[in-house]
Amino acid sequence: MQVEFWGVRGSIAVSGARFARTGGNTTCVEVEHEGHRLILDGGTGLRALGERWGFRPLSATVLFTHLHWDHIQGVPFFTPAFHPDSDLTFAAADRSGQGIREALGLQMRPPQFPIGLEALVGAKRFVDLDLRSSPVSAAFEIGPFRVTPLEQDHPDGVVVYRVEAGGRSLVFATDTEHGGVRIDRALVDLAEGCDLLVHDAQYTTPEYRGEGGPPRRGWGHSTWGEAVQVARRADARRLALFHHDPTRGDDAVDAIEAEARALYTPTFAAREGMAVAL
Ligand SMILES: [Zn+2]
Ligand SMILES: [Zn+2]
Repeated sequence: MQVEFWGVRGSIAVSGARFARTGGNTTCVEVEHEGHRLILDGGTGLRALGERWGFRPLSATVLFTHLHWDHIQGVPFFTPAFHPDSDLTFAAADRSGQGIREALGLQMRPPQFPIGLEALVGAKRFVDLDLRSSPVSAAFEIGPFRVTPLEQDHPDGVVVYRVEAGGRSLVFATDTEHGGVRIDRALVDLAEGCDLLVHDAQYTTPEYRGEGGPPRRGWGHSTWGEAVQVARRADARRLALFHHDPTRGDDAVDAIEAEARALYTPTFAAREGMAVAL
């Protein structure tokens, strides 16, 4: 399984010299196994992925954790979606009840956008995941990928995923909030022994508490310290700090990475363009 980071930023895309080494695109992670592609989230990083692929047919599933802006804004700019021979599936659990097609269409509608969702002729399927049928959702399969979903605390809901293929495993846990008191046991269980844990690390603990700014409790994110705790308890083989705050320049990302490594050696800060073979 090959993992490539196309967008590692949270909340809103950023640009400028101070973000150059980390990257400014919002969340998008490509997972490839034996020619099959699963794309986790469609933030602005999805635009960059599409630019590299070009205007040619692409077969892939884009699986969303949730439908906040920073996870969908690449969709209207995803070049392969405009190719009629592409075979793209967009899938998400949408707590609003309107369905993913409608939810994605909302950002491609007057007065916000010049063209409609129907322009994406390569988008052949919109799949609404129904995770409400049982407290513990069943795993499902997308091509060679076995995907286990887990609902987490986040405004409007979020689903994190364990993805397994070829005997390797990735856990994609972005936009999850532990609440500053306890670590979510269900997430530790999901991540148990995984090869790579990609975990929300948007805040420092002082930021989360509201020192020098607004308190971030209830905003739906973790501190990097919580990401480390989940990785340690789950015995994840590697930890990628992810969903960097838009205020976080490269030097600050480096500093957090160094601090986190002192606590859990196999930690790195996810940076745009990084590829990891599992
Ligand atoms: Zn987000
Ligand atoms: Zn969110």
